[in-house]
Parts: sequence; structure tokens; C-alpha cells
Amino acid sequence: MPNIHDQLALVHHRISKALEDSGRKPDGALLLAVSKTKPAADVRLAFDAGQRDFGENYLQEALDKQQQLKDLAIVWHFIGPIQSNKTRAIAENFDWVHSVDRVKIATRLNDQRPAHLPPLNVCLQVNVDNEPTKSGVLLSELPDLLESLVNLPHICVRGFMAIPAPRDNVEQQRQALLPLAETLQELQASPRIHALHPQLDTLSMGMSGDLEAAIAAGSTMVRVGTDIFGKR
Ligand SMILES: *Cc1c(COP(=O)(O)O)cnc(C)c1O
Repeated sequence: MPNIHDQLALVHHRISKALEDSGRKPDGALLLAVSKTKPAADVRLAFDAGQRDFGENYLQEALDKQQQLKDLAIVWHFIGPIQSNKTRAIAENFDWVHSVDRVKIATRLNDQRPAHLPPLNVCLQVNVDNEPTKSGVLLSELPDLLESLVNLPHICVRGFMAIPAPRDNVEQQRQALLPLAETLQELQASPRIHALHPQLDTLSMGMSGDLEAAIAAGSTMVRVGTDIFGKR
């Protein structure tokens, strides 16, 4: 059994080192702890060690854990594939969603977000390697998708999420993510896009195996499961 407290400290150390190596600010990347398939007790241990943001992939499993952890001020992120019939529960029970890749899902999340909650933070999932079986829009489709997401006051588009195909080394991992980082910068600088989405500031990229490369490429949120909670 890995010691979650120690594993978290190691991951924080890797993040700090990667930020420093690339000349970025020490608080430039947030750690999202991915707790899918792990019990609520493990989430509680990580929370007690100071972790606040947790990512889940499977809705029913996440709702069960949220029920058991109601006493904790956790920031919940939904990072799994989204079926239309699940949007209501996601809109009602999460703070962030990283896996939005079509207007229909964004519209449903907006319409179903309860009025008493702040806008739901949304990242658009991008298929950075053009893999036919993977979810996400192509990089070239991002501008049109952003321009289509209008009049949705109950969601806040924060940025992009990617799950790249595996690569052999850190430099190749970094190269795979650079185009997405450059696209975010271009879109942030576009007055049209900025007027529609003034809060575009997030690059959700990097997992246990490529967090250093992702931070070198500009990631602002790394999603780490295995290296905190152990193998699934
Ligand atoms: C499972 C998962 C992670 C965490 O992956 P690890 O390799 O265990 O760190 C990150 N992002 C997404 C979308 C995932 O599904």
C-alpha cells in the first residue's frame, strides 16, 4: 500500500521542480488528484494531507464518494466521457468539467446548472494526436467551437484538456502538447474570443507519466492518479 501522504509530497516536489526548470512561477500548476476506482477513505487521506481538488471519471462512483465525503470542502472535477443523459447530475454536483467536446453537451450543462451555484468551469477536450477512437475536438476545430459557445451564462469556459498518445521520451511528450499551448495563447490574444471567453486560462494536461513534459509545455493543471493513490 503506498502512503498517500508521502506520494503526494513526491508529486508536489516533481511539479515544483518542473516549474522551476522551465522558469515558471512556483504556483503555476495546480495538482488535480485523480481518485477514480479508489475508495472514499483514500480521498479523505489525501484531503487530510492538504489536497483539495479531486478528479473522477465515472459518475455513479463519484456521486457515491461525494455522499461519503460531504463534510469535506472538496473541489470536484469531472474528467470522464460525458453521455447526454448524465449532464444533469454533473451540472449539479461538480465544480469543473474537463471533457466537453460538443455544443450540445455544453448547452445541457449550462441549462441544468442550478441557479444557486456559481458557473460550472468547463475545459474543452482536444484530441491532440488526431486519434480516430479518442474523444475531443481537433485543434483546428477549437476556434469554431469557442465561437459557438455563446449565451451560456451558467458555464465558464476556462481552457482545454488533452490526453495525448503515449510517447517514448519527455521531449516527444512535450512536443505533442506544445501546439495546444500555442493555440491557447493565440486564442487568448484574439479580441473576438476574449470578448466571448474572458476567463480562458487553463491547460489541463499531464498525468503520472508525463507531468514534467506537460509543465514544460505550459500545463496549468496536472491530473495525477497512479503516482498518488497507487496502481488501479
Ligand atoms: C485516469 C486519468 C488520469 C490519471 O492518470 P494516471 O496515469 O493514473 O496519473 C488523468 N486524466 C484522465 C482523463 C484520466 O482518465
